[in-house]
Amino acid sequence: MKYWQEEETYSLEQKRAVQTERLIKTVNRVYENVPFYHEKMKELGIEPGDIKSIDDLSKLPFTNKQDLRDHYPYGLFAVPMEEVVRIHASSGTTGQPTVVGYTKNDIEMWQNMMARCYTAYGLTKKDIIQVAYGYGLFTGGLGAHYGSEYLGATTVPISGGNTKKQIQLLQEFGSTAIACTPSYALYIGESMKNMGIDPRSTNLRVGIFGAEPWTDEMRETIESTFGIEAMNIYGLSEIMGPGVAFDCQHKHGLHINDDHFVPEIINPDTTELMPNGEEGELVFTCITKEALPLLRYRTHDVTKLYTKPCACGRTLTRMGRITGRSDDMLIIRGVNVFPSQIESIILKVAEAAPHYVLIVDRINNLDTLEVWVEAKEGLFTDAIKSLERVEKHITNELFSLLGLHVRVRLVEPRTIERSEGKAKRIIDKRQK
Ligand code: ADP
Ligand code: ZN
Repeated sequence: MKYWQEEETYSLEQKRAVQTERLIKTVNRVYENVPFYHEKMKELGIEPGDIKSIDDLSKLPFTNKQDLRDHYPYGLFAVPMEEVVRIHASSGTTGQPTVVGYTKNDIEMWQNMMARCYTAYGLTKKDIIQVAYGYGLFTGGLGAHYGSEYLGATTVPISGGNTKKQIQLLQEFGSTAIACTPSYALYIGESMKNMGIDPRSTNLRVGIFGAEPWTDEMRETIESTFGIEAMNIYGLSEIMGPGVAFDCQHKHGLHINDDHFVPEIINPDTTELMPNGEEGELVFTCITKEALPLLRYRTHDVTKLYTKPCACGRTLTRMGRITGRSDDMLIIRGVNVFPSQIESIILKVAEAAPHYVLIVDRINNLDTLEVWVEAKEGLFTDAIKSLERVEKHITNELFSLLGLHVRVRLVEPRTIERSEGKAKRIIDKRQK
């Protein structure tokens, strides 16, 4: 089966018609049922009748994470609680968690979106999917789980962590796919090698990796470690959870399920729409959700949209990899730095292992950035000279990419903390 649903290949006109109809419905519903949106629209001097087509999207108010926090926990829900069948909360990477809710129809839609992703990855009901995202309030585990069952695949609900058990199940249950963060996949691969098990020796053929930024270099590393296809999945709890966007087999940008979540790219400083194809902050409007249909939700994720059709035949808009969250962007002596830029350099250096952390500090009123990278096994037994040579090489590469002098320190293998969920790449020592 090539696609899960025919909507994935709608013509542009068909899609616009569907988006328009759904947007109008949603705007009416939130105007009636969510006091926050009623007020916001009044402030902007607009009424539901002013929204006549999808082109009117930019007339609508934005929603920020803070708005969800201000209405904690259920204040932005558009249905009575008796309609809500599930609650999740964002993992709180950047502060107090936000609470999200789903009706029965919302859960069904989510399952469909996940099944679209799995189908695009080449998975079917014949597969055995090991779900190693955390189960619980985090959307990753249950999102991947319900989607996998809906697809009809055999679902292994092991959750995150317990790495030895993960490896044992990979071997004994014959899992053909694993869903986890890319950083956890690396950790599993490394642990297998330490246990004397070849990570290429299992039945795995597909990885379903997301929930954190990662680079194409990381994709190559994971693919060659396990001998699998490493597929990207994107999502956020405020919009739904995993399954908002996904790689197809061409791996050339992620397809956004834009018949449900309409994307826009804005300039984060002015909130104006960016010209087509330019990078900026990703904004989503939910046009089919019942419990929490957010309008123009500011994700703080930085990317760009591609408008050209994809060779896979899907007409779903594509977005580039997330370069990072704007919250994760470091401004070091006036230069914008994303951890992913540093990752892409480190992973090209043969002597460096794919484990790193960025240490930010302020010394004499100047921001400083240090990059700690693990050396591959064996390098530390070599002469000090070779360590210095590798450090210097990385420093130079970073300088030519960023125009910034960054201090690079090679550290001994296995000294940087491994992650079983979202990796923490930045240690910020500055007083806030
Ligand atoms: P939190 O905001 O607390 O981390 P979520 O679990 O909802 O809560 O995380 C959503 C965020 O995770 C996204 O906004 C994005 O920054 C990041 N993310 C999710 N999937 C990907 C991906 N495939 N690539 C890059 N970043 C991702
Ligand atoms: Zn495609």
